[in-house]
Amino acid sequence: MYKAWFTGFHNRKFKRPLTDIVYQDDDGGLLDVEHDLAALRTQSAEDWKALFDARWMSHEWPYSSGIWSKLEWVYPGIDLKNVVSFAEGGTNLWHAQRLGQELGVSNLWIKMCGNTHTGSFKDLGMTVLVSAVKEMLAHGQPIRAVACASTGDTSAALSAYCAAAGIPCVVFLPKNKVSPAQLVQPMANGAVVMSLDTDFDGCMKLVQDVTKDGSIYLANSMNSLRLEGQKTIAIEIAQQFGWELPDFVVLPGGNLGNVYAFYKGFKLMKDLGLFRKIPRLVVAQTEQANPLYRAFKNGWETYKPLKAKPTHASAIQIGAPVSIHRAIRAIRGSKGLVEKVTENQLMNASARADRTGTFSCPHTGVALAALEKLVKKKVIRPKHKVVVVSTAHGLKFAGTKANYHAGTLDRVRPTRRNIPIESSADSSQVLKALEKALKKL
Ligand SMILES: *Cc1c(COP(=O)(O)O)cnc(C)c1O
Repeated sequence: MYKAWFTGFHNRKFKRPLTDIVYQDDDGGLLDVEHDLAALRTQSAEDWKALFDARWMSHEWPYSSGIWSKLEWVYPGIDLKNVVSFAEGGTNLWHAQRLGQELGVSNLWIKMCGNTHTGSFKDLGMTVLVSAVKEMLAHGQPIRAVACASTGDTSAALSAYCAAAGIPCVVFLPKNKVSPAQLVQPMANGAVVMSLDTDFDGCMKLVQDVTKDGSIYLANSMNSLRLEGQKTIAIEIAQQFGWELPDFVVLPGGNLGNVYAFYKGFKLMKDLGLFRKIPRLVVAQTEQANPLYRAFKNGWETYKPLKAKPTHASAIQIGAPVSIHRAIRAIRGSKGLVEKVTENQLMNASARADRTGTFSCPHTGVALAALEKLVKKKVIRPKHKVVVVSTAHGLKFAGTKANYHAGTLDRVRPTRRNIPIESSADSSQVLKALEKALKKL
């Protein structure tokens, strides 16, 4: 039968069952979930594709979930009774024709990972983590609550899955640094919400301190279980292309778990013979918080955490990414690269994409601005097939987007402002205003 276990990210000799409460190996290094490849190889690549295609958007629970339809590659052997799912995943991957034409990459696709229950791609990993906690509880582990530090999206996802499972939840948020739509989610879901006078990196330290005894389980992305869910995005992209790969996948990076999760997904498909290669992964960072970019620029010689500065892409205001070494492995292993963008570039790239219907969040704007730069640098060429990963729903960041159009955002000169036209309720006045506005389009 298929099996998976915790191993050390560096120390591959370390091995523990997935029901253990463990976040680090004996040397204090990060963990990784490892799968029994020999067992998985007893099915052919064609068989796996056929199985996953048969389950795609299935009405049979829990295969209705994009994650649990691939459970043999995610958490084999989990008791299905313990699966906590909102039927997440299976998000649309659409051909962004107008934007692609404008940018000179006609084969441009956007994977809308934010079109999901709590409005960000964090749902994909959280379904695995909270299901794993239920499995641990069933094994008698004394877990009182699950906790996370968050820039807003992790806490929304964790609190929703915990509420569905009936498990107490605690979230640590940096005060005044998350959007109202993000803050209200854990409140509504009944989590204990700690609003702390620090930034995300400060919250991360605190949550690690208070979860040391193991009775409050740590749900941050240093927890490798979440990456098993996030990695299904890579598998879905291939599946949605009819089991073909793009040349590039561009995503915004903060704590950097996702780039490694994507790498794991693509690598697993390669290891199981579905493909001979993997796409080049591009991590996009804002200049305000770009520790990975700096390490990349100096040839990975040195990595230094830094103090992240405020950014409109608030979910990636992270200066000391927990998964830095995971990210470096992913970039190197995929011959990938890292690009940085300014606040002005990211908000304008987002607005430009919005004019083609995307309604993108600022983080997706970071990826789109990086794409624009790489096309200009001729790294990404017209012949390439490119996927941009949209990580959250634009509606979660409606305030930032409204302020863009109002022209009140720091460091941003909006090139595509569009503000409501006020008029008296008089048809000739309205018509006059309309004629004027239509001429400008
Ligand atoms: C978490 C998050 C990211 C960054 O993902 P990492 O794995 O931490 O690099 C990007 N965008 C949004 C909207 C997020 O919530």
